[in-house]
Amino acid sequence: MASNLEILRVEKSQEASYLEEIQNKGFEHLGEPLQIEYNRDINQIRVSIQAQAMQLGATTVTEVENPPSQAGQPPMLVYYIWRAPQPQPEPQPFACPYCTRPFMAIPASQAQVVACPTCGGANIIPAVEQAAISAPPAPTPPSGMEEPAIPSAPRAAIEEPSISPPTGKR
Ligand SMILES: [Zn+2]
Repeated sequence: MASNLEILRVEKSQEASYLEEIQNKGFEHLGEPLQIEYNRDINQIRVSIQAQAMQLGATTVTEVENPPSQAGQPPMLVYYIWRAPQPQPEPQPFACPYCTRPFMAIPASQAQVVACPTCGGANIIPAVEQAAISAPPAPTPPSGMEEPAIPSAPRAAIEEPSISPPTGKR
């Protein structure tokens, strides 16, 4: 079964530096690290970890193998579950095509209609571009990224189908 969620194996000796590096890149750790006894086929373990991680909206999973704590015990596999940093949209200036007055709006993951604060005209704010961000050693292309559910602006306010682009050049 195809999966866009990659499990990255990190050596125990690299664990601390890897965790520091990935967090410095803005990755968010989801939940608690999962600890599993390594007493069966690792592919079975990974499949179940992937399923859990994808439910959490993870983009990257790190796998570390800990040696047995006591003789006769199986090694422990520790899974860190990460979500790549989400681009933070910032307010951007737009010029109202009706009254030409500037106003600020925050682009969302989908295009939206925002009423001009001056004249009330319906302005279309284009969708923000989703930046592709990859994990440190092995890049994971986020091909199936889920978009957060953001309520869209009411569309009944659209009166004119064609709206001229904002004035001014970037
Ligand atoms: Zn206006």
